Amino acid sequence: MSKVINEVKTLKNYVGGEWIEPKSDQTQEVYNPATGEVIAHVPISSQEDVDHAVTVAQEAFQEWKEVAVPKRARILFKYQQLLVDHWDELAELITIENGKNLKEAKGEVQRGIENVEFACGAPTLMMGDQLPSIATGLESSVQRYPIGVIGGITPFNFPMMVPCWMYPMAIATGNTFVMKPSERTPLLANRLAELLEEAGLPKGVFNIVHGAHDVVNGLLDHEKVAAISFVGSQPVAEYVYKRGTENLKRVQALAGAKNHSIVLKDANLDNATTQILNAAFGSAGERCMAASVVAIEESAADEFITQLKEKADAVKMGNGLDDEVFLGPVIREQHKERTLNYIGTGEEEGAKLVRDGRNDQTDSEGYFVGPTIFDNVTTEMKIWQDEIFAPVLSIVRVSNLTEAINVTNESPFANGACIFTRDGGSVRQFRETIDAGMLGVNIGVPAPMAFFPFSGWKNSFYGDLHANGKDGVEFYTRKKVMTTRWV
Ligand code: NAD
Repeated sequence: MSKVINEVKTLKNYVGGEWIEPKSDQTQEVYNPATGEVIAHVPISSQEDVDHAVTVAQEAFQEWKEVAVPKRARILFKYQQLLVDHWDELAELITIENGKNLKEAKGEVQRGIENVEFACGAPTLMMGDQLPSIATGLESSVQRYPIGVIGGITPFNFPMMVPCWMYPMAIATGNTFVMKPSERTPLLANRLAELLEEAGLPKGVFNIVHGAHDVVNGLLDHEKVAAISFVGSQPVAEYVYKRGTENLKRVQALAGAKNHSIVLKDANLDNATTQILNAAFGSAGERCMAASVVAIEESAADEFITQLKEKADAVKMGNGLDDEVFLGPVIREQHKERTLNYIGTGEEEGAKLVRDGRNDQTDSEGYFVGPTIFDNVTTEMKIWQDEIFAPVLSIVRVSNLTEAINVTNESPFANGACIFTRDGGSVRQFRETIDAGMLGVNIGVPAPMAFFPFSGWKNSFYGDLHANGKDGVEFYTRKKVMTTRWV
């Protein structure tokens, strides 16, 4: 099978430092999307299993919140070293359960490690403030505290990076954590837990309950869960936000996207096509920061499309464990079918199919779709409107930057947007008038970094405080303000 998976097991939940079988006996198959092989069975736990995990996490919180912040950070320093030591193994596991190529998987591990490194700064990040004289003889100060049990719900597309947006900072700031990983990529989560245990994390601080909707609802409804961090598709993010806040929880819900890249006629087209090739088709288009639409100035469009198509023709598709492979599979057979339907819809809607990924072949048995490019797309088309989450790129021809920005701003999604140009004034106009939270200039993917907030807007984010950066610290802490007269 592989070095990192040597037998097909039914995974267990991780609660209170023990690997336990859930009360529910329901399971679901986990596939390697590059081969179609079953690599594990994941339990579909019940609300009873959630209740048990939350109760354990709540008990653990009473002690963990009292542990000195530098001591909590020291465990994360050790964890960081373990992640570095296991970098290749973790990346291989990501490739096997998710399908992205090994180089991308190694990059994902790096992003996860950076989140742990950022969380190691908790002693500084958790500091309060003080003003010695708010009035004569009176001073005020603010102190920061953890909030309790956090529920983390994650998607399939970044089995390492997305959980690392959550639990390192949550536990560094003194909270305890119950995570529900994607049931489509659940293996890596268990490895992350094993390494946390090896780093010396006390029992019950980090817990995993595998499953699907019931576990999510169990977390959303549980009175002892103080906050929910969610990352996933737009309809589920909206649902999670509404139900979680209705239950008076703090919620951050990062959602789907339809990211636009604007290419102006003065852009370096070689750079633009290389960057957009990677942004549209890398990770099989299954990134929330994927480039899904290019809005290009008419006079540069033909040359851009010729270059992009040439580069897409040269892409090697197959099992991401093969060093030469750029484009891996999409996550499941149903997702491949959905993507093929969208390509059919694009044709019916009258877009021009410049490159048809349905014709690309591989010698792997998995769920592959080749790079697909549509030209002459308009905002009335479903292929422009919907998040396809696959290697399908739409090109919209525009007459100038203002029209490109107007087109982009019509989308209800607003995770990211990029511009390709050499003109400073255009960059400024783009920055000032585009509706999106993550901007890129002459790059294809303005990737979220641990140290800055992942700033999605509109239907790409529900909540106030984003993941990562100082927003993350704020989200996982609450404050006391004390006013003192020393007499
Ligand atoms: P998904 O919404 O299907 O699943 C996400 C999580 O929600 C999973 O753990 C899943 O079990 C759970 N879930 C799914 N349906 C549910 C329901 N009806 N009720 C309760 N829980 C439910 O998302 P996915 O397909 O795993 O991931 C891809 C999506 O995530 C894309 O839309 C992508 O854009 C988005 N995403 C967004 C970001 C971001 O930062 N904005 C990052 C990564 C992925």
